[in-house]
Amino acid sequence: MNFDILITGAGPAGLCLARALSGHGLRTALVEQQALAAIEQPAFDGREIALSQHSARLMRALGLWQRIEAREPNAFSALRDARVLNGPSPFAMVIPHGLGRHSELGWLVSNHLIRRAAYEAVQESRETNHDIILLTGEQVAGVHTDTQGAHVSLASGGMLHAQLLVAADSRFSATRRAMGIAAEMHDFGRSMLVCMMTHEAAHHHVAWEWFGYGQTLALLPMNDDQASGAHRSSVVLTLPSRKIDPLLASDADAFARDMTRRFEQRLGHMTLASTRHAYPLVAVYPRRMVAQRFACVGDAAVGMHPVTAHGFNFGVLGIEALADSVLAAHAAGRGIASNWLLERYEQSHRRATRPLYLATQLITRLYTDDTPPARALRHVALRIGGNLLPFKRLVAASLADSH
Ligand SMILES: Cc1cc2nc3c(=O)[nH]c(=O)nc-3n(C[C@H](O)[C@H](O)[C@H](O)COP(=O)(O)OP(=O)(O)OC[C@H]3O[C@@H](n4cnc5c(N)ncnc54)[C@H](O)[C@@H]3O)c2cc1C
Repeated sequence: MNFDILITGAGPAGLCLARALSGHGLRTALVEQQALAAIEQPAFDGREIALSQHSARLMRALGLWQRIEAREPNAFSALRDARVLNGPSPFAMVIPHGLGRHSELGWLVSNHLIRRAAYEAVQESRETNHDIILLTGEQVAGVHTDTQGAHVSLASGGMLHAQLLVAADSRFSATRRAMGIAAEMHDFGRSMLVCMMTHEAAHHHVAWEWFGYGQTLALLPMNDDQASGAHRSSVVLTLPSRKIDPLLASDADAFARDMTRRFEQRLGHMTLASTRHAYPLVAVYPRRMVAQRFACVGDAAVGMHPVTAHGFNFGVLGIEALADSVLAAHAAGRGIASNWLLERYEQSHRRATRPLYLATQLITRLYTDDTPPARALRHVALRIGGNLLPFKRLVAASLADSH
């Protein structure tokens, strides 16, 4: 089968890219290893995604935002301000929304709602434009590209050809690897436990990042539970991986007591309100994001540590940059997979992502190092950052994102 664009991976990035390309006379194939049911009705996965204002705009343009709101009017929660705390120190660096141009820094929404809305938007494009083929339950077995095109063999035996191959198959992208592209990977040796909890005290829509000694805690403020009125947050606990398993297995009451203690009662008593999920923390940055007739998007292009909440936000930036270039080339009758186009995409996406990727690595190393000099240094860093208006403006802009 022949296509213009072949995307491997129908996660949020692959689906959003297919949607962005639809309706312009290009034929796209999406290849996904999971069964159709898993992407049609994605299960709750514990992730609350902090969306920058820029991502919110693109989600509206792609029709995702409206779909989520129509189904769950309470789904988007405003992220008004952010507080960063270090150990037992009462000092907090506050990043207020007033530093940006909006009444909130960004928005929070559950990852499975993004995935379901992206799938539905693709379905609508398929029905309207008849230009997307979705192949589910299919794995990529082999890949090669040449001057004529990109050629992909499927584990089921089929063969697909396209002008441009795009990997959107996660940070551990098998497609990127099959293209022979190396990646720098950093395994933090830690995992993140995420779940929803209700609590007695109000959060006032302020997010917390609390670099405690031996653990990192984050609190992402969600809207109050509509039925009970209880205050609700997504809670994120980062610990050495071996310490996460017992917390996943403990009974709900014991877990709630443990979390209440870890949060030092700052939110009063806490109650578990969802399933618990764990993610090992591995950051990935590939040496190249493009090759002959090939590009990476989403986590396949930049696999961020979630602490700075930019994985999906960077995915959105990359999708926009690649889709705009491809559509402009197509409209002008130029090749959609030229080396020039792909290299420009890579340059712009590296410029947009590399500094924060490196800064996130640095922050994470400093704030998970519990030796006395590191503790002192992080305290000083937070104080200096807290007193530097330009620094705080930069952080606010990266969240409020005025690209
Ligand atoms: C705990 C946590 C919190 C996060 N919080 C935030 C946040 O606040 N803000 C933010 O912007 N980002 C956040 N992120 C990051 C965000 O979730 C990811 O960036 C985003 O989900 C990546 O989407 P993706 O489509 O690139 O990859 P994925 O979601 O990994 O999807 C990849 C898809 O490819 C498929 N696939 C894989 N291999 C193959 C193959 N060989 N053949 C075919 N299909 C394949 C998979 O089945 C999957 O459907 C968070 C991540 C975590 C873990």
